[in-house]
Order: sequence, then C-alpha cells, then structure tokens
Amino acid sequence: MKIWPLRFRELGPSRVLFADDAGGYFVSDPAFLQRYVDSALSDTDRKFLYEHGHAFNRVGDLQHTSFTWRWTARQSAREKIAYVILVPTLRCNLTCTYCQVSRAAENAKGYDWDTDTLEAVLGFLDRLETDEIKVEFQGGEPLLRSDLLRRVRDHCRKRFSRSEFVVCTNLQRLGPDEIGFLDAVDTYTSTSLDGGLLHHERYRTRNRALTEEFFENLDTVVQRFGQRVSALPTVDIDDPPEIETLVTAFESYGFSSIYLRPVNYHGFARRRRAQRDDLSRWNAFYDEFIDFLIDRNFQTGHVMEEFYLSLCLRRMLQPGHDGHVDLRNPSLPASDYVLIDFDGRLYPSDEARMLSRIGQIDLSIGTAHDGIDQEAIAARVPSAFNNFDPDCIHCPYQPFCGTDPIDDVSRYRRVDIPRQDTWFCGRQLAVFDKAMSLIYSSDERVLYSLRKWAGLATWPNSLAPEHHDTSAHTS
Ligand code: SF4
Repeated sequence: MKIWPLRFRELGPSRVLFADDAGGYFVSDPAFLQRYVDSALSDTDRKFLYEHGHAFNRVGDLQHTSFTWRWTARQSAREKIAYVILVPTLRCNLTCTYCQVSRAAENAKGYDWDTDTLEAVLGFLDRLETDEIKVEFQGGEPLLRSDLLRRVRDHCRKRFSRSEFVVCTNLQRLGPDEIGFLDAVDTYTSTSLDGGLLHHERYRTRNRALTEEFFENLDTVVQRFGQRVSALPTVDIDDPPEIETLVTAFESYGFSSIYLRPVNYHGFARRRRAQRDDLSRWNAFYDEFIDFLIDRNFQTGHVMEEFYLSLCLRRMLQPGHDGHVDLRNPSLPASDYVLIDFDGRLYPSDEARMLSRIGQIDLSIGTAHDGIDQEAIAARVPSAFNNFDPDCIHCPYQPFCGTDPIDDVSRYRRVDIPRQDTWFCGRQLAVFDKAMSLIYSSDERVLYSLRKWAGLATWPNSLAPEHHDTSAHTS
C-alpha cells in the first residue's frame, strides 16, 4: 500500500491535523505523527488511511483514481472572462477616510471615460468569447455617470444572452435617475455599511446630514429592491465597530451575510496610514466576531454568516469554490475577470489598479483598445501558484488556500518573502485554524451555525474524521 504525503499542524497539545494534497484531512495525535515519520504505522493506521482516501494499492485503482480526481478538482480552472469590473469615473462625492480606491474630486476634469474610451470598452466586451456576462460598476461613484452605465447595460443586454449588473455605490445621491437605473431585475446594488450611524459617519460621511441621507437612501433601495441589495463593512482595526451594533445594523436591513474586510493597504488609503503590524489584533477581532455570531445565531434563530469564513469552510469541505480571486489556486491574472479603469487600462484586479495608481508599480495588463497583453500576464504567472511555495508545501491548508501577490507587493514591495511572514498567510492560518476548530467542535451552538451556514439538516461525523490507535506501539 502506498500512502500519499501528509502535511501536519498542531491544533492543540495532543491534537494534530493531517491533510493530503487533495484536501483530505483528519485529526490524530502526536503518537500517530511519530509512527508516520518513523515509517512505523500500525495495521490500524494503514486501514484508516486507506479507507479515508489517503492511500492506494496500485495506480488506477479506485482509491488512486478518486484521489487524483479530487486533486485535479482543487486546481482552479482557467476560464473565459465573464466578469468585468468597469470604472467609468474616478470622481466621487465622498472622501471616506479609508477610501479604498484612488478617487478624484467630484468636479475634477479628465477622470471619466471619454467617447473614445467608451467605444473601446464596448468593443472589448464584444470581443469576449463568453455568451454570459456579469458587469460590476465601480468608481469613484459610478452613479455620477449613470449615462455611461446605461450605454454599457443597453449594449450588454443586446450582445449577451444573459447579463447581470452590480452597481457599487455610496448611495449618497439617489434621485429619480439613479433609482430608475437601479430599478431593473438584472441590476444589483452593493453599498458600504460600516455599522451604526455614528461609526458610518466617522469614517465615511463626516457630516450628520449626509449620514442621515445615506441611511434614508439605504432604506429606500432595500424597500424597493429587497434581495437585490447588499452591503459590506470596512473595518479599521485601530477603531473597530462595536460587534453587536454592526450585526444589528446589517440584520435591520435584512442582510444575512457580513463580509468583514480590513482596511485595504492598497491605493491612497495606504498613504494615510503608517504600516503597523495589526495582524494579531485583526485575528483577535475576527475570532471574537465569529464567536459572537455563533452565540447570537443559537440564541435568536436569526442566522447571520461571515462571508469569508463560510467561503473557507466550503473550500475545506468540497472542491470547486474558486470564485474568490484571493482564495483560489492557481489564481491566474485575467483568467475569468478583468477590470477596466477610467482611462481604459486593464488590470487583473481592483487592488492592482490601486497599487498602480499610487505609482508604486505598473500592474496594468493591457488596454481596452488593444486587449490583454499576454506578456504582462505571463510575467505574473509564477506568483499565481501556492503549490510550489517552500512554506505552503508543508502546510495542511495549502489545498484550500490561495495566493495574494498584489498584497505582498503592496506591503513588502516583493513577492518572494517567506510566506509565513506575510499578512496574507497570517490571516489565512487564523481563519483555517478557526474553521477547523469549528468543524471538530461538539458544542451544539457551533454545530447549529455550521449546519445553517452549510445548508445541512445534520452535521455528519464524516466531516470531522479522527484517528487514534491506542494499542499501537511507538518507538
Ligand atoms: S499561505 Fe500560509 S496558510 Fe496558505 S497555504 Fe501557504 S502557508 Fe498555508
């Protein structure tokens, strides 16, 4: 019998997590680890490994085929571009303290698509090989140019058999024209909500009248468009929102998912802040937030999820959840989505655009006129994999994890520093450790949330495999 290589990580004094390259995992004890490294596995150990897909007898047998299928399914596929982020204007009518995007003043000139760029964008969309498209409008504040949004939407509705539009808006201006644009079944509204009124005002509007206007507008779109509205908070770990207030604010608008995002160190937000090691504080806040949700869900029966934890859980339990650009492997630039900036330049992500905008590095990958520059793509491919990273190859979470070279460049100005010294890895380790502790929990409050988040009636023991051979002798 041959055993696939196992990576391991201590979860506690007598608990060790093991995982193979295909994402199969189990918990055992230090004695098993010792037998494993000594090549002295007991018959019971071998039987367990074979029955749980970590071993095979010969190439091509059922266990081998099953493993190779699971390994292959965990490598995200290169697909056609079917998701396009468009930035028709960089101008914005707010100056949020942690503005994640480089912005321009509302009255500034030269920060909108001109006619030539608009035509180039429409031509770029025409040349896509897909028949279905999702378009996300960002800014600046995209609704300042609802005329451009309408041109794109009208064009896509004719060009593609199926199209969907998301408008990422601060909801500060909501007149008949803006409401008219959002009031379409193929159009979704995404906004920022940082918590209660005071917190939102401190970081975004800094003005009571504007704050009240935002909350009125949020009321309006939620009442009119219901499930087609979503919101995201941005959390400044130096001054995080009160957790209960944040969750209550989201629930009051009918949202059942919160995606906790730290202040983004890309773009102009980074210039305003010193680089501080806020990782441990972020992880502590995140841990507290998840525990709060679990308790609250159990007590109230109103289930709220944290989006990123749910995504990590889904990736751990099943292959194929590769939609998130920072959490898939490989994460090839422009494989299935691309961003077109206000000046017609293409970027592999919003973060790449922001980094380029502050002049740190040019991460553009072409233009709407000329299309994608394949040489620029090829230059980024090596950092798109975690399979060969000297740290990741020892990490049991590698099959579930991803890479974020843009974040590495932003923080450290290079992509080749030891992975476990990066903010990305520190955050991932904490989230995966948390997810594992939940998966192996016997606390009914935890299992209640896990079942709800996973959409399962029961939480089967098979999702938390455990192996102990107490009769085995370890030399
Ligand atoms: S980045 Fe960190 S958590 Fe992710 S696979 Fe690599 S070592 Fe593991």
